[in-house]
Amino acid sequence: MISDGDLERYSRQILLPEIDLHGQQRIDQATVTVVGCGGLGSMVALMLAGAGVGRLILIDDDVVEVSNLHRQLAFRESDLGVEKVVALRDQLLGLNSSIEIHATPARFGDNASQDALATREADIVVDATDSLTARHAIERITRAESTPWIMGAATRLHGQLAAFSGDRREGCYLCMAPSSDDASGFDCRNEGILGPVVTVVAAWQAQHALLFLAGHDLEWGQLNVYDAVRYRIDHLQVASPGGCHHS
Ligand SMILES: [Zn+2]
Repeated sequence: MISDGDLERYSRQILLPEIDLHGQQRIDQATVTVVGCGGLGSMVALMLAGAGVGRLILIDDDVVEVSNLHRQLAFRESDLGVEKVVALRDQLLGLNSSIEIHATPARFGDNASQDALATREADIVVDATDSLTARHAIERITRAESTPWIMGAATRLHGQLAAFSGDRREGCYLCMAPSSDDASGFDCRNEGILGPVVTVVAAWQAQHALLFLAGHDLEWGQLNVYDAVRYRIDHLQVASPGGCHHS
């Protein structure tokens, strides 16, 4: 049952037939694991907390740095030097004190049992990391737990998003990035990033997660590529026509 207070709090999204009371109850009972609490993860977590996702598991081993503040808008100057999961947890509880936040100051992929638990408990995992190596770890662990996940990436003025189902029938991350060799060096440390571009991708991820939690199917196995200069979004299926062969 949704309380009167929550009915008012979430009324604008409950009004949507795509969410409705049933969807809000599912969102309220859901757990989402957010891997990485930087530009993508901090914004995704804010949007999920605002929407009333009942339980968020945050995983990140970084501290807040001054070069984060232009885009990681959940953080404040007073958070400089503080672990991101701790600073973010405080912000999220300030936004919505009725949800549960687990802050894990660790790098996903370093602790097999902890990562497996955070994946198993999640209805969906959000990738907000910035490396191929981390995404390959997410692919491996979510596959073992049959948990769906949403990949997101942003550099310069470009973004990418893809969602992978628990059974990977429509394709998996290995279909689009077979190797974890991160030799490209393409990340926002050396390529740069415009804050709103990363927020666009974060909003997509949050929107996908909420619709999924409310009971909707996603366009699984579809890579969406955003070009912020031309306001253009291209879509392509990650798996070859024969389907995914990475079992
Ligand atoms: Zn595959």
